[in-house]
Amino acid sequence: MPMSAAERALRQEVIDTCIKMNALGINQGTSGNASVRVSEDPADGFFITPSSIPYEEIAPEDVVTMKLDGTHSDNRRPSSEWRFHLDIMRARPDCGAIVHTHGMFATTLACLRMEIPAFHYMIAQAGGSTIRCSDYATFGTQELSDTALEALEGRKACLLANHGMIAIGPNLKKALALAVEVETLAAMYWRTLQVGKPVILPDDEIARVGEKFGTMGYGAVDAQKDAQKKVGTA
Ligand code: 13P
Ligand code: ZN
Repeated sequence: MPMSAAERALRQEVIDTCIKMNALGINQGTSGNASVRVSEDPADGFFITPSSIPYEEIAPEDVVTMKLDGTHSDNRRPSSEWRFHLDIMRARPDCGAIVHTHGMFATTLACLRMEIPAFHYMIAQAGGSTIRCSDYATFGTQELSDTALEALEGRKACLLANHGMIAIGPNLKKALALAVEVETLAAMYWRTLQVGKPVILPDDEIARVGEKFGTMGYGAVDAQKDAQKKVGTA
């Protein structure tokens, strides 16, 4: 059956997101991958990049369709990281799209197994007062998916130990924007560490910022609850 213009456009957006992440300097080569829900109906599953093909050479027909039961169709093998894309799409109804990168600074911190603390208020974009780092697991495994999901609990981004990072959003544009933000925060944090010890903002400030952004993720709500507990209002 020929694909509709809308389907072709959404498949192309998955490819363009990956071309952009390389052009922006937050990823390189065929590292990384991206996915987006086919529609608002979870039963339609999601589109995901095929494995190991240079992004400029991927055609819309090469993008793989995966259902939430893990079955896939189309001509190509899905990204080797289909397990965490699948598990995030299953566990997070707030997630419409996922971007995974091997950016220089996010990966540097991930190799040091460091999380990013609230050294800058923009951390609230990632849904809470930290961007956690997962444990290490071999790429493409269920173990990696399990530890990534844990690190993403109440958050929209996480680092993957000795590997890279994941950012999620309601759509590809927002997931990519968050990936750029996380990479920027990682670079800034790395730089502050060269000079001294950054001052960390308190949880109640990050909750306040989260509210101002209007992006109060769950993590920010938790941070606010913690802060309220501390001042005895909850
Ligand atoms: P794929 O080309 O299979 O998506 O792998 C890239 C990657 O980042 C593995 O972690
Ligand atoms: Zn990877």
